[in-house]
Amino acid sequence: MVPRKVSMAKRKFAIGDYDLVVKRSRAGCGLFTRDPIEKGRCIVEYTGRVLSTAEEYTTRSKYLFEVNKRTTIDGRDRSNTARYINHSCRPNCEVEIWRGRVYVMAKRAIKPGEELAYDYGREYFNEYIRPKGCKCAKCSPGGTGS
Ligand SMILES: [Zn+2]
Repeated sequence: MVPRKVSMAKRKFAIGDYDLVVKRSRAGCGLFTRDPIEKGRCIVEYTGRVLSTAEEYTTRSKYLFEVNKRTTIDGRDRSNTARYINHSCRPNCEVEIWRGRVYVMAKRAIKPGEELAYDYGREYFNEYIRPKGCKCAKCSPGGTGS
């Protein structure tokens, strides 16, 4: 028998046990950490139901995540804490996809009390964020909230 090793990827995408909390932020609600998070650590998975192609066109969910050309997840369920993570143009998190699942990773070291944010991508930004004005810390430094 060959001993089974935990693969590098498995270790990389092991979700950390961080104390995350939903609070008011400059963009409505946001997800904050109470714990320090090291750079490169996996913070939370963006979970949800995989939609059929027909559903992708008819759903009104605001929490769609396009995993790849064939797969879109609807993350509207409140159990999906990652749905509270806002967009930022200078984010402290980034999304990585592994085996069809979506993970939010720490792009840099994150301090307790910081709001988590990742870049939603150009397409989403141009369609939904730019028209209303981006409320991220980089675009509106004087904004209300934290
Ligand atoms: Zn911005």
